[in-house]
Amino acid sequence: MNDKKNVLVVGAGPAGLTAAYELLKNAGDRFNVILVEEHRQVGGLSKTLYYKGNRIDLGGHRFFSKSNAVNELWEELLPMQGAPSWDDRKLERTIPLSPNGPDPEKTDAVMLYRNRVSRIYFLRKFFDYPISIKWQTFANMGLARTIRSGIGYLASSFHKRPVRSLEDFYINRFGKPLYAMFFEGYTEKLWGVHPSHIAPDWGAQRVKELSLMGALLNALTKPFRKKDVRVETSLIESFSYPKHGPGQLWETMAERIREMGGILFTETRFVSAVRSGESADSPITGITVEDADHNRRTLPCDYLISSMPLSDLFAGTPGLPEKARKAALALPYRDFMTVGLLVRRLEIQNTTSRKTIGNIVPDCWIYIQENDVKIGRLQIFNNWSPYMVKDPENTVWMGLEFFCREGDSMWTMKDADFIKMAISELVKLGIIREDAVLDSICAREKKAYPAYFGTYDQMDDIRAALDDIPNLYCIGRNGQHRYNNMDHSMLTGMEAARLISEGSNDRSHLWQINAEESYHEEGSSF
Ligand SMILES: Cc1cc2nc3c(=O)[nH]c(=O)nc-3n(C[C@H](O)[C@H](O)[C@H](O)COP(=O)(O)OP(=O)(O)OC[C@H]3O[C@@H](n4cnc5c(N)ncnc54)[C@H](O)[C@@H]3O)c2cc1C
Repeated sequence: MNDKKNVLVVGAGPAGLTAAYELLKNAGDRFNVILVEEHRQVGGLSKTLYYKGNRIDLGGHRFFSKSNAVNELWEELLPMQGAPSWDDRKLERTIPLSPNGPDPEKTDAVMLYRNRVSRIYFLRKFFDYPISIKWQTFANMGLARTIRSGIGYLASSFHKRPVRSLEDFYINRFGKPLYAMFFEGYTEKLWGVHPSHIAPDWGAQRVKELSLMGALLNALTKPFRKKDVRVETSLIESFSYPKHGPGQLWETMAERIREMGGILFTETRFVSAVRSGESADSPITGITVEDADHNRRTLPCDYLISSMPLSDLFAGTPGLPEKARKAALALPYRDFMTVGLLVRRLEIQNTTSRKTIGNIVPDCWIYIQENDVKIGRLQIFNNWSPYMVKDPENTVWMGLEFFCREGDSMWTMKDADFIKMAISELVKLGIIREDAVLDSICAREKKAYPAYFGTYDQMDDIRAALDDIPNLYCIGRNGQHRYNNMDHSMLTGMEAARLISEGSNDRSHLWQINAEESYHEEGSSF
């Protein structure tokens, strides 16, 4: 072995990979970097599954960031396209092209420029997301609902509740009837808990600052104005997307890590940490890992970067204070199931002015707000990247998303039964006909959402216990139990790499990433 310091990284998702990449790139002469990843594939929640020529993105991952460092790193790994993609050519769509960027028709290592279209499906009709106050919205809601919503909104403007829960947050912002229509049922579907029992932090992090009054004025004056610039600009939302889905970027990063001398053990799980002593501030000197054949060994380390769930880190780390341990072990999560469904055609029509291949609806994803079904969201991968679909001219490849809890009745259903249930829901909603289904697959993801209820209110104790360990750096979404997007997770990875390379263990800023308002993304999805 050389005289470099050993940095162990647990988890090869966006956070762990970025930490390893940055360390090797900037200080590879001083550090050995070893990653351990439980699964065979890298990318964590942002991996892309491959099924008979079609690719599934587990969630629909937009690449969008306000951070230059993140955008530059994405560009370094997969440059933005310099020529139109297959569907843009066919539809004669004009998109911004990067000078000297690669041609997606000729190369795979390329990031595409995509327009964001997502709507809400409610009352078997389409509503804008985020909800916009325009005549079509009123027409879809009907007169009685519209009047009730207006009165509720006005009432909420005059009487603000103290914000103790997510329910209070929503009602203050939208009024009770709109909250009941668009947020109450969906939030409960997502979290499995009524919004009155969820901390308001999540809403503040995820809901775009909407001014209903502004939107209302906009709608009322629209007929008298020449051109509605405000509405148009709000529709021109875009994001980047790797040609073959988000996992492609993380696989590229893993390749570069290996090229720079990093070691990546896949199908290798963190089991426990070894500490140098029994006091609260004893450093971690190694971790015990287990491979797919259940063989265990201990890897020594000078630093540990962890992006695994806090509950698992506490379960495997001795010497942590009992109160924090109990709170961490009880941290709540929401799990996630996706059905990849290949169909010949959709029953819902494209009535928008957007052109699509086969004239399918233009949405990348659709929020399903209907209360008579379990499905939460529907991805249409054809609209994310035509290269995700084997035959984008004659088939529609979708992801049907369900929120659940590991071990509950959905999670434990046999795949075939679950797929049957998922198909029957889309038929019930009028989105497909059963005889249009060509193929299907079911995937499960544990701990997809760190939840802001239960022992989440003891995060300060949990964090303090971890900060006592001088060579431990917690990063990422579940690694910090924070509702991070990929870019936030990457920023935590970059910050951990910086601290280690500078010999600092002041982790105060590390815990602040995405906790500060300036990091929040507008117009976020759930
Ligand atoms: C439905 C959905 C939609 C999303 N949409 C977007 C979006 O549009 N844009 C966006 O930017 N983000 C989106 N996200 C968020 C994005 O997926 C995460 O922010 C990102 O993947 C977090 O990266 P991470 O590395 O922090 O964690 P993860 O992706 O969870 O990676 C952690 C890794 O650690 C590994 N691991 C865990 N325990 C162990 C162990 N004991 N031993 C070894 N390895 C272990 C896991 O296998 C995993 O690979 C979405 C998430 C979901 C669920």
